[in-house]
Amino acid sequence: MAHNATVAGTLEYLRSRDPKVGELIALEAGRQASTIELIASENHVSAAVMLAMGTCLTNKYAEGYPGARYYGGCVHHDALETLARERACAMFGARFANVQPHSGAQANQAAMMAMMEPGDTFASLVLKDGGHLSHGMKINFSGRFFRPVHYPLHYDKAHADYERIDYDAVRRVCLEARPKMLLCGYSAYPRVIDFAKFRSIADECGAVLMADVAHIAGLIVGGAHPSPFPHAHIVTTTTHKTLRGPRGGLILTNDEEIAKKIDKAVFPGAQGGPLMHVIASKAVAFGECLEPSFKEYASRVVRNAKALSGALMKRGYRCTTGGTDNHLMLVDLRARAEALTGADAEKWLERAGIICNKNGIPDDPRPPRVTSGVRLGTPAVTTRGLNESHMDTIAGWIDRVLSAGLKGENELAGECEAVRREVAALCAANPLPS
Ligand SMILES: *Cc1c(COP(=O)(O)O)cnc(C)c1O
Repeated sequence: MAHNATVAGTLEYLRSRDPKVGELIALEAGRQASTIELIASENHVSAAVMLAMGTCLTNKYAEGYPGARYYGGCVHHDALETLARERACAMFGARFANVQPHSGAQANQAAMMAMMEPGDTFASLVLKDGGHLSHGMKINFSGRFFRPVHYPLHYDKAHADYERIDYDAVRRVCLEARPKMLLCGYSAYPRVIDFAKFRSIADECGAVLMADVAHIAGLIVGGAHPSPFPHAHIVTTTTHKTLRGPRGGLILTNDEEIAKKIDKAVFPGAQGGPLMHVIASKAVAFGECLEPSFKEYASRVVRNAKALSGALMKRGYRCTTGGTDNHLMLVDLRARAEALTGADAEKWLERAGIICNKNGIPDDPRPPRVTSGVRLGTPAVTTRGLNESHMDTIAGWIDRVLSAGLKGENELAGECEAVRREVAALCAANPLPS
């Protein structure tokens, strides 16, 4: 069921060498091929991005940076990492890139270690309202070794910016706490981020502005969201979400002094040997992002998200902030039926072949394991070639499944079975690209 002959051949070989692992990967390939992926942080990479990871580059220790390694034999690794850095800089119009972070969280760890001492204060969004755990969760490094203070959204229903960032509050929090760093960029925020406004607040209180664009990086590169440059001092991101690359992290800056500190903080500060096979794959993905067709992809992701949120609102659901500017939406299920929870919705939809995650909505009275909402995103379905008319179909399926679930197990079982068949047919007609 793999979507490319070479990938399929690789998988066949793996099955012959290790039937147990090969079989499980084949099952997962089948699951991805036949279900609708609406998890906002996921995507489907190209065969080229996938294959670059499965190469001999994994054999090599290349601690250090191009031209300054701690091991011999790095000549091709130097060239590959240099290429990845150059493409990363070209994508964002930035001067310096570090492509070694193993993940988004590790990119954030390095960026914070570069600019702060243990115990220093930084400011970020209230975590349960869309922040990431690496932005100050108590048991995460960011909350254990630094002191987070949080800024809120507008929680007043009557306010024109209800559920959007309260920039006056950002300023108030920062002027009072005088953080070393001000973080913006989120995991579940459906609206444009005003980086210029954040920078003016950072300047006013003497903070370094860090934009964690893990979710929206692909939209930025594709011109579908304003760029954090030249406003942010540091930009961190993942490479596996809207950038459609391998799992990993990336840090960018225009400031040479900050770039030096970041390099030290990544290695040897936070990591040992870089994953050179992943860095090669990042280079392939960045090359794809620089192709003209990526612009069209990014704008289609946003058009599809607007279409999906519109189609859900038409059916009685509420999207927080009234819709979306980017690739994701937070759907408040209570507007459709007070009894609906995010946990039930996630479980029921998975039975129908529609994959998403429960998510708290701003000011959610329900606990994180239950929630009143689901987060839906369009990066993966857009990669699969789906368009705005398909979004109406998907919204219809979601409503059928959730309505049936409210009636009882019998109704739910029947509806999931029916929708699952329709989902599989749509997926078969729109295969994953090679
Ligand atoms: C996904 C995400 C990350 C972390 O990515 P991992 O690769 O899972 O560590 C960091 N910041 C934000 C805002 C994210 O959404």
